[in-house]
This record gives sequence, C-alpha cells and structure tokens, in this order.
Amino acid sequence: MTIKAERASGSGAGWRLENSYARLPELFYTRAAPVPVVRPGMVLFNEKLAVELGLDPGALAGDAGAEIFAGNRLPDGAEPIAQAYAGHQFGHFTNLGDGRAVLLGEQITPRGVRLDIQLKGSGRTPYSRRGDGRAALGPMLREYIVSEAMHALGIPTTRSLAVVTTGEEIAREVMLPGAVLTRVAASHIRVGTFEYASATGDGAALEALTRYTLQRHYPELAGADKVALALFEGVLERQARLIAQWVCVGFVHGVMNTDNMALSGETIDYGPCAFLDIHDPATVFSSIDRAGRYAYGSQPNIGHWNLARLAEALLPLIDKDKDKAVEMAEEALGKFPERFRAHYTAGLRAKLGLLTAEDGDFALAQEFLDGMKAAEADFTLSFAALAGAVESGTLSGPLSSGEAPLRTWHEQWKARLERQQKVRSEVVAAMRRANPVLIPRNHRVEEALAAAVAGDLSVLHRLLDVLRAPFDETPANCSYRTAPPRDGQHYRTFCGT
Ligand code: AMP
Ligand code: MG
Repeated sequence: MTIKAERASGSGAGWRLENSYARLPELFYTRAAPVPVVRPGMVLFNEKLAVELGLDPGALAGDAGAEIFAGNRLPDGAEPIAQAYAGHQFGHFTNLGDGRAVLLGEQITPRGVRLDIQLKGSGRTPYSRRGDGRAALGPMLREYIVSEAMHALGIPTTRSLAVVTTGEEIAREVMLPGAVLTRVAASHIRVGTFEYASATGDGAALEALTRYTLQRHYPELAGADKVALALFEGVLERQARLIAQWVCVGFVHGVMNTDNMALSGETIDYGPCAFLDIHDPATVFSSIDRAGRYAYGSQPNIGHWNLARLAEALLPLIDKDKDKAVEMAEEALGKFPERFRAHYTAGLRAKLGLLTAEDGDFALAQEFLDGMKAAEADFTLSFAALAGAVESGTLSGPLSSGEAPLRTWHEQWKARLERQQKVRSEVVAAMRRANPVLIPRNHRVEEALAAAVAGDLSVLHRLLDVLRAPFDETPANCSYRTAPPRDGQHYRTFCGT
C-alpha cells in the first residue's frame, strides 16, 4: 500500500523553502516523497533551533509538527528529493545515495542563511538497495544528543530539529521502535557527491556541482581563476580545522567514510561516534571498525586520505592537462598535514592557556598528552583541571604533580606561562573557554537512550539541558562531569542501521 504524503494546508509555521539543489542536473537526485508512517508521535522538538530557522514553535511543537517531521505532511514549498552520491566505505568505492532520507528543501532563515531540512528514516527511496529506508529511535536520539552537544562545544555540525516516532516497528537484530530525525545542515554535499559526479563521466555535471558548491559554501572564492582548485583548498582548510576541533575535545567520529565528509566543513552523520574517556590515540568505539581505521588518533590521516579522493574527482576540472592537474592537486593536498598541525597546535595552546606562540608549544602539549596516556587519565578532566592549577600553582585532578614525569612537565609549563607575561585571570578565563568540563559521556548517553526507548524522556531532557553549557561548572552538571566507573568493560558503539 502506498499512501501519498499530503501537503500541509496554509502556511503560518514559517516555512520558507527553496530548492536550489533540485536545479542541478537531474543525475544528482531523484524525486522521492517521504513514505507516511502509521502514527507520528513527537519525542523531541528543538524550539530554540526552530526559532533560529524562522519557524513558529507554537505551530510545530504538537501533533501538526509531528505529522510534518514524520513525513506524513509536506511543508509548504517542499520538493522532496533523495540525493545521489557515492563514497569510499572503509576504503572501498560504492554507489550509495539517500537510501533512508529525503531532502525537503532549503529553509531560508530570517538572517538569510540557506539550510537543508532533511528527514532521516523517512522510508525507501530508489537508493535504498536492500535497506528498509527506516531508522530506529535509539540511534536517531543519539544523533540528536551528540550533534547538539557538538554545537554547544562550538564545533561546526549539522543540527537536530526534531525526533518523532513512527508507531511502526523495524526489524534489526531485534524489533525496534522506528523514528525519523529532522536534520538541519549547511548542505548535504559530500566528498562522495563529487566521487559520484566523477564516476558518471559527465564533465558538465561535475562542473555544475563544483560551481554550485563553491557559490553555496565558499562565495568569497567564487571569483577565483581556478574554481575547482579554489574549492578544494577551501574544503581542505575547513576539514583541517574541523578535525583539529574534534581531536581537541576527544571526539571519535567512528565512520569517516567519504560519504560522511561534508564539503561545508560540518560534522555529519553521527553513527557510532563517541568521546574519549581515557586518553589513548588507538581508541576505537565502533564495533564494525575492526582494523581501527577510524581510531581517535587516525582521524587527521583519514581526513587527508578522504581529501585525496576529492582531489581525484576534481582532477579534470583542475587542469585540462592531466599531468599538470595531478601536480597541482598534489601540491594542494600536500598542505593538509601542516594545516592540521597549525589548527591542532592552536587548539592545544588554548587548552594550556598559552596566549602567545613559541616553537616548543606543540612538544609541551604532547608531553602532557603522553603523561595522560601513561597514567590512563581522563582526557576531559585532565585538561579541565589545568585552569585550577594556574590559580593554585599545583596540579590537581587526575594528573597530580606528585607523579615524577609530570612534576618536570609542570615546572616547564609554569615557566612557559610566566614567559608570556599575561594576567593570570585572563589566562584562566581563556582556558575555561577552551576546556569543556562536560562532554556527552558514553554511559550518560546510553542511560538516557535506554530510559527514552522505555518511554521515560526525563533522563534525556536532563542530559540535553546540561549539555547546552559544556564550559560551565555548575551544581546541576556536577554528576554529569565525572568519568564513568572503571569496570574493565570497553565501551562499544553499533551502527544501528
Ligand atoms: P550511513 O551508514 O547512515 O552513512 O549510510 C550509508 C548508506 O547506507 C547510505 O547510502 C544510506 O542511505 C544507506 N542506508 C543506511 N541505512 C539504511 C536503511 N535502513 N535503508 C536504506 N538505506 C540505508
Ligand atoms: Mg552516511
């Protein structure tokens, strides 16, 4: 049975949808409406984000909103499409596309920003392959929690507007409640979108996509002589910065396939992601990442590898002469390690309270990280304790200066802080802005998800509330700041597809 989604009658909710992506050559998408669900039920609605989007929370928070966010009714101006893309998954090239998502359109916010409104878990599309097009409640809530936490941490990311249940069960290893997430993104253009364009062999389509992406995300570069190279360099810079930001808060994306890397520079596709507790570069949470390809410490290298795939796709546009194109692409790509290192070093300096730059800063930070690893210390708490150490003169927290290697390190760090001749209160304030006291701890996320799936949303709401202010030490977030109990069980995440 196919039921057609109805169009929401009348406006009033504030929808201002455009569909510039659907003006690209047709090979980039297929028209595909969301498949209506039996019984839409609102679980989470992000009122603050709705306001930023120019939407009326009053009109969308209840049943009327649930109908829209489930895909049963289309908002005014929606032109739903499933996007085509490809991607390297764990190193292997595959044709993909939105197999369980549709793009409703691009909301133009009151500030004139264009943002994709996508339903994820919205039913089968021509790209579904053997999948059912659906998503389970747990993973959609997980994406909501972690994406909103990343936003609060100041890291570019897609956002989450709503999660609704479908009233349908979906078959995974067990039967699970189905859900749809409404995702808000600068766009859903991926490295894999370019790989797809390149694989079709349609040069005009590749060029149209390149110009479109440059105009949409890097308008300041749109006048460049070599548009493809300009786009590539812009993306490289944003990815170098993004991955440095991830590493600085201990975030492990978990599935950095090229289809999960956005040209906008936002973090996208929260699947098996998780945050470090103990600092160890080899940390892997995802149950499917057996070889550790996407381990915490491998993320910059993988970012570099993914950018090489983007460069390959862009080659015919970089220069007509193939050898020249390769040479130019290699030169641009070669800058990634240095750009990552620059952003990472800047992030580490801020975490250590270094407001000036000295050559030895990276090595100083590395020594602290090594000490943390040797002591199996908590990453977030160790950094958060440093501001207090500046105030008191003694290292406290998981890494106290009592331990010999860090005693020497502490002396070096103190000397370095003195050399910069900055007012202590200024240094401490800057450190508190750079070192979150709170991350979405894995055990807290799991606890909230388990309660929510069992019908109790209060645990989830409390978690979302505290995650909004990750840099503030408050009585309300006290119990959320502590590291999980050490029970010897390694935390594992599952893809949930
Ligand atoms: P992801 O793991 O979410 O990045 O998805 C990888 C690819 O698999 C994308 O093309 C998805 O659209 C597709 N996919 C994931 N889950 C499903 C599903 N349940 N039904 C259809 N396609 C899916
Ligand atoms: Mg994906």
